Amino acid sequence: MEKGNISVQAENIFPIIKKFLYSDHDIFLRELVSNAVDATTKAKALALKGDLKSELGDTTIEIILDKEAKTLTIKDKGIGMSEAEVKKYLNQVAFSSAEDFLKKFKDESIIGHFGLGFYSAFMVAEKVDVITKSYKKTVKAVKWSCEGDPSYEMESHSKKVRGTEIVLHIAEDSLEFLEEARIAQLLNKYCKFLPVAIKFGTKEDSVWEGEGEEKKEVKSTVDNIINNTAPAWTKKPTELSDEDYKNFYQELYPNSPEPLFWIHLNIDFPFDLTGILYFPKLNNSLEIQKNKIQLYSNQVFVTDDVKEIVPEFLTLLHGVIDSTDIPLNVSRSYLQSDSNVKKITSYITKKVAEKLSKLFKKERENYESKWSEIGVFVKYGIISDEKFYEKAVKFALFQALDGKFYTMDEYKEHVKEAQTDKNGKIIYLYAQNAKEQHSFIESAKTAGYDVLIMDNVIDNHFMQHIEFKDQDIRFVRVDSETVDQLIQKEEVRESVMSEKDQEKVKALFETAIENKATTIDMKPLSPEDHPILITKPEFMRRMQEMQSLQGNKDGFGDFFNVVINTNHPLVADKLVRMKSAEKKDRFAQYLYDLARLNQNMLKGEELSQFIKSSLDFVN
Ligand code: ADP
Repeated sequence: MEKGNISVQAENIFPIIKKFLYSDHDIFLRELVSNAVDATTKAKALALKGDLKSELGDTTIEIILDKEAKTLTIKDKGIGMSEAEVKKYLNQVAFSSAEDFLKKFKDESIIGHFGLGFYSAFMVAEKVDVITKSYKKTVKAVKWSCEGDPSYEMESHSKKVRGTEIVLHIAEDSLEFLEEARIAQLLNKYCKFLPVAIKFGTKEDSVWEGEGEEKKEVKSTVDNIINNTAPAWTKKPTELSDEDYKNFYQELYPNSPEPLFWIHLNIDFPFDLTGILYFPKLNNSLEIQKNKIQLYSNQVFVTDDVKEIVPEFLTLLHGVIDSTDIPLNVSRSYLQSDSNVKKITSYITKKVAEKLSKLFKKERENYESKWSEIGVFVKYGIISDEKFYEKAVKFALFQALDGKFYTMDEYKEHVKEAQTDKNGKIIYLYAQNAKEQHSFIESAKTAGYDVLIMDNVIDNHFMQHIEFKDQDIRFVRVDSETVDQLIQKEEVRESVMSEKDQEKVKALFETAIENKATTIDMKPLSPEDHPILITKPEFMRRMQEMQSLQGNKDGFGDFFNVVINTNHPLVADKLVRMKSAEKKDRFAQYLYDLARLNQNMLKGEELSQFIKSSLDFVN
């Protein structure tokens, strides 16, 4: 038996491995299984070239748990290693790369902790045996053992078949890795789509044999293969049906509602990238849907945190990205500045824009029917990504209250004539809540205006952005002004009230309205319009909404304007002509409350008070 020392300069590397990576120690299994996959792939390549002297045979990788012996074994039928190779790869290469990795690791989080390789075994094992036999006929098998310190032992071994067995003697503080369920969970997370079959124990299987009366269930025990070696993204789009794409979605996210549509990514120059991105059904639960894209490298799972690779607005998409051109043993902050990652990000953005554009052009009706869901991506993208905006202006839609959809250009054309104000701005009227803003919507319609529905959380930012991009457009919510002021035209209506009467009436309302911050405007509206209107100025309301989005509830307080219609008979006639001062006060209060009732602002005691006093005035 040979004994030796692995390396002298870093005797304490094992405790460091354990300590540094403690929270992520489950990656050891991915590292060891992907080594086994690599060795197997190499054996297959040799067999293809005719350089493998023995039969290739069954190459299934086995994961074997032995609770009594407290071992977990990873067994492959790959190319194996000779004694010299073990020394070179495990004692020198692997060790120095582990040291290298830890130097980089320090306190930054490194994507997927890739590159620690073989030595990650010591995160969970107090001793590791490597029993290996090279594919080269004359080379003898060896057994290498290391007990988590820099010394190792090497002896010859009787192993006859080609390949490598890594035996982990699980440490006392890592006994969870002797649990079948825990290992099954890790295999499912990291190895689900590896390209070589991986067996973890056996399972019961049953098939129905025979016909009619004779039909019976035949049970048998079969290998439990935990992975799908040829996942959909590795195939050509022409080989896949819609059904295949949908099934793969279920494989990724069991029991999820069917996705809306998908994009198959496939590029090998100037970088290599494959994958499938799905547009999910959103159901208004944006946060839950976020960050579900999984990143793979050659079918090995790396991470489901792809914020640095996928543009922010596309983190709502689901699916898989597989690329060997994303550097994995670098810190996340470095990743964003990597030129390949930048190219990948803009490629994904471009592909998504192309897909949407194609859908819009070829299947507009279908596209419109899905707009409530697609719209979130598109608006988010328009706000956050200039390149995407340039493409998306052609397929972003506005929905009018009557259900019709318009592209940005179409809508401009549609409302230009009726809704251009005296300054040449085209006013886009919108409602956020068709029920609450009902009376304003009706007034706008009567005036011959069109009203959009803008009820998504993202719409405020979206409108702000569109206004910024197109200085001809201004968005105005239907209830932010009285209808004649929503779109200011040249001609002004005359008031039937004298200046003096107007002043008196204004004073009455100043008493009725307790909130001193409220402004009161006397305006000559149509006699058919409401006597008193409460409006919320567009700018103040948007500020308020943005503040409350940021969790600041009481930034601006409840801010509104009160408009007195000086042409309404109840104001210009009835109120003015009342004799008793006390009655005038009460009537002004009543008219004001009527407007508040319209806005859902009357509650509880105030509401019953209002009902009582309205009986007075109806008679
Ligand atoms: P990496 O895989 O990144 O090269 P590792 O530390 O995981 O680094 O492994 C070092 C080397 O040891 C590998 O490059 C490979 O040559 C060899 N090796 C590791 N595991 C196996 C295995 N199961 N079969 C054959 N060779 C292996």
